[in-house]
Amino acid sequence: MYWILVTGATGYIGSHTCILLLKSGYNIVILDNFSNSSPKVIDNIIKVSNLNSKEISRRIKVFEIDICNHNSLDNMFSSMIKSRKKINAVIHFAGLKSVADSVEQPYKYWETNVLGGINLIQTMESYNCKTFVFSSSATVYGPTSKIPIKESDLIKPCSPYGSTKASFENFLADISGCTETLKCSIPSNKEWRIARLRYFNPVGAHSSGNLGELPKGKPNNLFPLIAEVCSGEREILEIFGNDWPTKDGTGVRDYIHVMDLAEAHLLTLSKLFISDPQILTLNLGTGIGTSVLELIKTFELETGRKVPYKISERRRGDLSISIADPINALKYLNWKAKFGIKEMCRDGWRWKQSQAQNNI
Ligand code: NAD
Ligand code: UDP
Repeated sequence: MYWILVTGATGYIGSHTCILLLKSGYNIVILDNFSNSSPKVIDNIIKVSNLNSKEISRRIKVFEIDICNHNSLDNMFSSMIKSRKKINAVIHFAGLKSVADSVEQPYKYWETNVLGGINLIQTMESYNCKTFVFSSSATVYGPTSKIPIKESDLIKPCSPYGSTKASFENFLADISGCTETLKCSIPSNKEWRIARLRYFNPVGAHSSGNLGELPKGKPNNLFPLIAEVCSGEREILEIFGNDWPTKDGTGVRDYIHVMDLAEAHLLTLSKLFISDPQILTLNLGTGIGTSVLELIKTFELETGRKVPYKISERRRGDLSISIADPINALKYLNWKAKFGIKEMCRDGWRWKQSQAQNNI
């Protein structure tokens, strides 16, 4: 069976994708430096996947590696080959993801998100592994009044984080030999099969309550902050502005359940494996916009708890509205998000409660 290298596998989206990879019969190589996750997540992946000890040693390999270290990547590929396990594809989640931190530390973001990615691609090339799925982001688009956002819309990132994602996307287009980057699927003349997946706002958790977002440090995003206020860890939620040109004045986003996102990765892999060399660029969102107030209301309904909030100033650099046009994901992958805001809140809350119970 195929071996899939998952970089950033113990992170939020990577860990949920590992569950579906294992369930679909793939073997996985877990690669992470644990800078924003914990090795304990591997236990959670195993628990949710229901693997016995024989299957664990046969189907999962773990490497603690920093993608910025070229030699370590090379050693990892070579040790897999020595044990007669060829890596057939890479899903590349490893990276730094905070817009605010990227403004403070642009060097670190460029080093990890761009140089680290180039290291990985070079290593893959030297082991003739040329199927690659990249975690890109809706932050590559500039502020736009055209909603929903299409893949062909203007790429104009507004932060160092967004710039690193857009630049690495361009690098991938260059190595695949595709100069035209606007169409969704373009034939590649360099044998590479590449997908650039632009996520909108991933939230929620695995429905078992045994896997969810577990970042180090204080969250900046709305969903984990609402969960913290709901659980009493935080007193009050600040809403960043209620004077945006939106349905109720608060910011609107396209929230997508993390398990829907994980499923899109599985379908992308299957698609790339059976296709000619190409580069595929897809938005992954639901196409539905939810305001801050609507998300709070749904959280309250699902949990039976109040989410106290106050209105504050707008956050610097915020967009009023961001919604994906997901039609190409339907066309190329036959993928469509199954879960709505209710399920996202329900599963996110179950994870929050199980963290409290198990002292995670
Ligand atoms: P995450 O921080 O939970 O996971 C990333 C993982 O990468 C972590 O486990 C971290 O320890 C690891 N990592 C970081 N630097 C590394 C390095 N140098 N070497 C090896 N491992 C390293 O983030 P996530 O939410 O799972 O996001 C995964 C990817 O998706 C990221 O590339 C992110 O930019 C992108 N993305 C995330 C979102 C989101 O809102 N979560 C939205 C759009 C795009
Ligand atoms: N938001 C908020 N209070 C917070 C965090 C976020 O009102 O403490 C708003 C933010 O202004 C935006 C929405 O929630 O309108 C989603 O923000 P998030 O940071 O989760 O995602 P992003 O802005 O990166 O898409």
